This record gives sequence, C-alpha cells and structure tokens, in this order.
Amino acid sequence: MSSKIDDYIANRPRYDGFADNLFWAYACWQAFWVAVQDGELKFGRKHFMIRAKFFKGYREGKYHITDLYRNNIAKMQCNNMCWYCQCELPASELTADHVFPRVKGGSNDMDNIIFVCKHCNSSKGAKDMVEWFVERDQIPHYWLIGHYLKQVVQYAEENKLMNKDLDEVGAMELPFSIKSILFFHNRNIWEYYLKILNTEGDVNDLKPDILMQNNQVIPQ
Ligand SMILES: [Zn+2]
Repeated sequence: MSSKIDDYIANRPRYDGFADNLFWAYACWQAFWVAVQDGELKFGRKHFMIRAKFFKGYREGKYHITDLYRNNIAKMQCNNMCWYCQCELPASELTADHVFPRVKGGSNDMDNIIFVCKHCNSSKGAKDMVEWFVERDQIPHYWLIGHYLKQVVQYAEENKLMNKDLDEVGAMELPFSIKSILFFHNRNIWEYYLKILNTEGDVNDLKPDILMQNNQVIPQ
C-alpha cells in the first residue's frame, strides 16, 4: 500500500545492511541538531563532517547510541503539554501514548511512553508515529525524532536485528516502520525543517526544550 511517506523515500535504500541505514538516519539527525543550533537553513561542510564522523563511529562500534534515560527525565519534567501537537494541558488531562503501538508489540516501559492530548492519541492509534505525522503533512518535533530512532536502536539490539540485511528486517513484523528510518535519509526533509525553524519561528518557541537548554552538546 502506497502512502505519503513513499514520496520522500529514495527508490533504493542507501545501504544493504539494516544497521547502516539506521546509523545514517541517526547521524543525519545529529547533523541537523547542530544546524538548528547554528541557525542554518541548509547543511554546510561542518554538518556533513559531523554526519560522517558519527556514522563512521557507530558503524565501527567506537560510539554507541545512548538509551532513553535523558528523554525520560525530560518527559517527566515537561508534563504540561502534548508532545505531539504541543497544545498546553494540565498533566491530569494528558494521556499516555505508546510510540511503538501495543498491538505491534510495543512495551509499557517509560521508554515507549509519550504524554499527549486525547485527540492526538486517538488520531495516531496504532499507526507508526512518523508515518502518522507525514500523512498529515507534518514532521514530529526534532526531539521526538531522536526519541523514535533511539527506540528503534534499542529494539533492534534486543531482537538481534543489527547484523541483518534491510530486506530481511523489512519482511518481519515490527513495532516501527522501515519507511520512517529511510524518510530521515532525505536531506530535503531536514533542510525544509531547518527553514521552518530558523525563518518562521524561533527555535526556542518550540517545546519541549528541556534537552536543548540542558544539553547543548550533540546527543549521542
Ligand atoms: Zn496533541
């Protein structure tokens, strides 16, 4: 079944290996993170170098993508808004969404929970978070993109997917979407997002910003 996200994905994945594609998406996100901090509208030489450095580091096992500890702290600290649409709501009115849907094997761990408004929760339902955003012509907050990719890494490590080919993993029942990983390979997406952030609004207006304030270094 074709969906909107297909329009943004290259015909051929960049790499044959599942892990390489995942590392590349994550390294793109890190380069983007720095470009946001720099107030850039496009990736420049510095950002390409960061992407290459991290990709190589993950691939060679020199670096490791960290767990969701910091993300979980931030979720607890910032509990007066929906993390999907960013509407403000008291904590008592927020609901717990499973980023990896329960019906697809997503767990009840804090790693898999995001506090959102009722409307977003029922609208997303059992859909993939990234595909759900793209289907509505939106992009998740960049903080959530890192969260999602970290979850994929964690799941892939626990289920021994890291050494498999992308095709093999793609044929499996998964709580995440391969398309969502490949979506983040598209530089146009990132540069479009940079433009929104750095021309149409102040980055600091976007919540949640807790990690941005406390952690100016590139998240790993
Ligand atoms: Zn919402």
